[in-house]
Amino acid sequence: MSTATLAPQRAIPITATQLLINNRWVNAASGKTFPTINPATGEEICQVAEAGAADVNAAVKAARTAFERGPWRRMGASERGRLLNKLADLIEKNADEIAQLESLDNGKPYQVALAADLPLTIACFRYYAGWADKIQGKTIPVAGNYFCYTRLEPVGVVGQIIPWNFPLLMQAWKLGPALACGNTVVMKPAEQTPLTALRIGELLLEAGFPEGVVNLLPGYGPTAGQAIARHMDVDKVAFTGSTEVGHLIMEAAAQTNLKRVTLELGGKSPNIVFADADMDKAIEGSHFALFFNQGQCCCAGSRTFVERKAYDQFVERSVDRAKRRTVGDPFSPDTEQGPQVDQDQFNKVMSYIDAGKREGASLLCGGSRVGDRGYFVAPTVFADVQDNMKIAQEEIFGPVMSIIPFDSLDEVVERANNTIYGLAAAVWTQDITKAHAIAGAVRAGTVWVNCYDVFDAGAPFGGFKQSGIGRELGEYGLQQYTEVKTVTVALG
Ligand code: NAP
Ligand code: MG
Repeated sequence: MSTATLAPQRAIPITATQLLINNRWVNAASGKTFPTINPATGEEICQVAEAGAADVNAAVKAARTAFERGPWRRMGASERGRLLNKLADLIEKNADEIAQLESLDNGKPYQVALAADLPLTIACFRYYAGWADKIQGKTIPVAGNYFCYTRLEPVGVVGQIIPWNFPLLMQAWKLGPALACGNTVVMKPAEQTPLTALRIGELLLEAGFPEGVVNLLPGYGPTAGQAIARHMDVDKVAFTGSTEVGHLIMEAAAQTNLKRVTLELGGKSPNIVFADADMDKAIEGSHFALFFNQGQCCCAGSRTFVERKAYDQFVERSVDRAKRRTVGDPFSPDTEQGPQVDQDQFNKVMSYIDAGKREGASLLCGGSRVGDRGYFVAPTVFADVQDNMKIAQEEIFGPVMSIIPFDSLDEVVERANNTIYGLAAAVWTQDITKAHAIAGAVRAGTVWVNCYDVFDAGAPFGGFKQSGIGRELGEYGLQQYTEVKTVTVALG
């Protein structure tokens, strides 16, 4: 592991730090602000307006007016698509600066933001731009002399609460389908990473989205987030984050107006490596599956199951790879891993490392902090991990790999499924029969075969079990943002 020296914070222009309500930048009604922190240094980047319940009320009112009376509902569906395409073009035009801002606020390597987060974000907006004028109902051959058809109408005012691990991309996954279907939006970005969401707000205005269609409310979950989830005039809430808060969102919906709820929550995804796999690819792919994005992925391959025949070799080479992972300044071109997003996440990851040691797993590399400022954690590998250990059961959300041996296919399927989660899984093998057996038997919303973290705006993503409700992306993502209306007309 090499540690690059941290370059001084770059002079990245930060122009949007207020709330966006009804196409106007405003301070919070309370006047409150909060700091957003550079996780590479622990220093404040700037102050951002902190939305509270009064601001949520104002934003919901603007979104309701835009939905009921604004030009948004009256404009042609293709015009909505044109606006989404224009937004995508503007993001592309400013991609380099936006990638820098994402890296500064989140800590992810700038090169990764530029090569992955930005293109995926742009592609997501373009994908849903294409759908805007293709969302159509059916004609139904009902009994009797009637003409029956369905319309797919927008749900209405949609609340969207997003996390900090992929700030831009999670914003795109939420806004793309909601806007393509004609909804209006009140969105709360994560408190750790508000800056790129607000920069996209500037581009939404530049693209020409009408007043009140997208409202952006940086702030905290228990205040602004909860006010959105409990609001009587929000028709649907879409949330990505922890399973714990997912429960609270459903409770809030149940206790108020039964708003529609979609959830994309955590995971403890099994990554299954058979001895017959192409080992070079399996080792590098499993490293990527866990360590990508500082280990802060809901779908991280965080239970690395390896067939016993290949176990020792796999462990040795995975440790070697982890030791070579470059950790340091997110703006340095050879950095693979930046800091964890904040002090809380850093502490949480370190406490899981302690738990792994206490419960008797073998710590083979890492396990400690890197440097003396910022929230850097050394790439960590545990071997001899048992299914019942905390590190094999709970979501760590950090650069901590747990390698677990298995003996047979049936056994590994049962163990892979023995979790409250069901977000993703992967299998590495050259035997097509084994690959399909795993793909069919694992209870997870996504299965990757001989690859990991392959995302496309067209491919649905979401969880079985407590990993969530509903799907994002693809055509399935649209279903969550439409109501079906049946119209039956007597023909005489
Ligand atoms: P979190 O609390 O679930 O945060 C996700 C979003 O929900 C944030 O915008 C958050 O606001 C908001 N929120 C928090 N409490 C809320 C409430 N009572 N009502 C409405 N909204 C609320 O997640 P976290 O604390 O950042 O991270 C904790 C753990 O969650 C991680 O260690 C990881 O295991 C998991 N996680 C999963 C994902 C994923 O992609 N599925 C993403 C991030 C984290 P704040 O900005 O104030 O927190
Ligand atoms: Mg920050």
